[in-house]
Amino acid sequence: MPAYPLLFRTLDLPGVQLPNRILMGSMHTGLEARPDGMARLAAFYAERARGGAALIATGGFSPNDAGELSSHRAQMSTQEDAERHQPVPRAVHDAGGRIVLQLLHSGRYGFHQNIVAPSPVKSGINPGTPRELGAAEIEQTIGDFVRAAVLAQAAGYDGVEVMGSEGYLISQFLAPRTNQRLDDWGGALANRMRFACEIVKQTRAATGPDFIIMYRISALELVEGGLSGDETVQLARAIEKAGATLLNTGIGWHEARIPTIAQAVPRAGFAWAARRIREAVGIPVIASNRINAPEIAEEILARGDADMVSLARAMLSDAEFANKAKAGDRAGINICIACNQACLDHYFIGQPASCVVNPRAGRESKLIYAKTNSKKKIAVIGGGPAGLSCAAVAAERGHEVTLFEKAGELGGQFNLAKKIPGKREFAESIAYYAERLRRAGVNIRLNHAATQADLAGYDEVILASGVDPRRLSFPGIDHKSVVGYVDLLAGRAQAGRNVVIIGAGGIGFDVALYLLERSSRSALEFKEFNKHWGISEDSSISGGLAPEGVEKPEEKLKITMLKRSTTPFGSTLGRTTGWVHRAELLRNGVKMIKGVEYRKIDDAGVHIAVDGKEAVIPAETVVLCAGQDPKRELQAAHLIGGAREAGELDAKRAMLEGAELAARL
Ligand code: NAP
Ligand code: SF4
Repeated sequence: MPAYPLLFRTLDLPGVQLPNRILMGSMHTGLEARPDGMARLAAFYAERARGGAALIATGGFSPNDAGELSSHRAQMSTQEDAERHQPVPRAVHDAGGRIVLQLLHSGRYGFHQNIVAPSPVKSGINPGTPRELGAAEIEQTIGDFVRAAVLAQAAGYDGVEVMGSEGYLISQFLAPRTNQRLDDWGGALANRMRFACEIVKQTRAATGPDFIIMYRISALELVEGGLSGDETVQLARAIEKAGATLLNTGIGWHEARIPTIAQAVPRAGFAWAARRIREAVGIPVIASNRINAPEIAEEILARGDADMVSLARAMLSDAEFANKAKAGDRAGINICIACNQACLDHYFIGQPASCVVNPRAGRESKLIYAKTNSKKKIAVIGGGPAGLSCAAVAAERGHEVTLFEKAGELGGQFNLAKKIPGKREFAESIAYYAERLRRAGVNIRLNHAATQADLAGYDEVILASGVDPRRLSFPGIDHKSVVGYVDLLAGRAQAGRNVVIIGAGGIGFDVALYLLERSSRSALEFKEFNKHWGISEDSSISGGLAPEGVEKPEEKLKITMLKRSTTPFGSTLGRTTGWVHRAELLRNGVKMIKGVEYRKIDDAGVHIAVDGKEAVIPAETVVLCAGQDPKRELQAAHLIGGAREAGELDAKRAMLEGAELAARL
């Protein structure tokens, strides 16, 4: 009996049988428009097909110029495009998988000069106002989608995913928020649905009965003037009638101010919205968002919320997710911790997607973990992210590795991170790496602060001893109210009701969230999450937004965050997650003061000056979150992670440095 029997049932689609219920959902990889992109995408997707995903959806490709997301060309509109794409489906087929090309027209979300939309309504997240499409241009755009699908078929793809969610052009036609037309493409829902339905209908006619047409429907819009649940159900029925094979679901427009994939979202937190659609149609429906473990996927299928599950980031963090789940090897799965740091955040800074906990993702053809021909004795000092990553890869390559860790448990800074509300997923990474080290035969020496004498006799010594919190020196820094963030998070120090946080980087924000325990949303059920963020399950409500709005906090604590610089608070946090933390703190009344000069700390509180004006912020507790310095108590040939450079340190760099070094040794 397989460990996850429902997940590993076959699924019959016209002309094809899928071996399991796992879709690798579409993601922007940042490779789509690169000169070497197709070869890298072929390697990237082939690895995931070998890993057992039944079906893969590529990142978005536009059917024409206007639909591009940026000025970099990622299109399927010419014969040359089809030829360029051929290696991708070929590699996936050779690996035993199936792949569909996502067709995405950005509409008003494009970042270029020629953006178009059903109506000239600007989005709050884009500087440009779109040009209104004329009726003939609308017909032409539908034709472009159909041409793209035909070219995808010629390139060897098994089908297409028509991107109809997240607020892109098709969503813009569907929602009154963005469609103010008075002609046959606007007004009543039947008119607003025409664009989506015509694309599907004409694509089916042009590609034949067995070509997969997966339509990504916006199961929940989360914006004012978005579709209601009832309208979404009508759309789903119409799309089925138009000839779609599968209905994948998307959650929220990009401009929605409710987290949809961040750690704050409970696992499978939106599967209920897929169920509403599944109950209305006969074709298979796919649930998506925050599905990162096989037991979560199995529960979705068991509850009848969906027929398949879409895992996107979970396939970045572990390309072999499906094979491992099939074998019942849950402990061997490298779980996605929903941090977005190396995947989605990379998209916004123009870098290819990778993964914090799996640095090889997106570097499949560059970061090769080959077996070694010359076995070495290697000492790794420190069991935090850098040390774990380095020890695992080095041992798997065949080296004899000993890992020294001063603490009684592996994990380093991850052990602090996992205490932060909404970051409990970090415990998954520690458990995974501990298991990986065990399987690779690493000699783990806990509670052992290595000395220079311990390191004699090793061929390579790697210092991954991490960081020490930065010491500050101004009057009163030793006052009894002052505590370090490590002591606070480790439970060795307690905070009073009036707290000042010095420093507003990632740790300062984390500490504020930790103190406001009520924002511990990741452990919550979706119903509590919905209440907290103002999401309505009532299918008659436009956009799914509860009229009462977001939950009001209880007055529990007074927190003030201080920093010397004058940049906006939260600007150093992740692009796609920082706003969630900031919103949470502001909602809870956290005061944020920038441009601060610290004078002293005494019984009255923290004395500061801002723009030459002196002030005292009363504080029972002052928490220092003022960055870190490298911890280097030993000599070593190799330094990685925080021991090498503490500034700008994050788990992404630490794990990558560890893996890269281990791959070279
Ligand atoms: P950080 O991001 O460098 O922030 C340090 C803070 O301390 C800054 O706000 C800085 O503000 C202040 N500071 C620095 N030197 C100071 C001094 N001498 N006196 C007073 N204040 C001083 O460091 P961190 O918050 O410790 O985070 C460490 C790393 O972990 C970062 O790379 C961060 O990206 C990562 N991390 C990220 C997240 C997240 O994105 N959610 C969460 C946790 C950690 P001023 O200089 O303006 O005063
Ligand atoms: Fe998941 Fe973070 Fe990896 Fe992205 S970077 S795939 S969110 S673990």
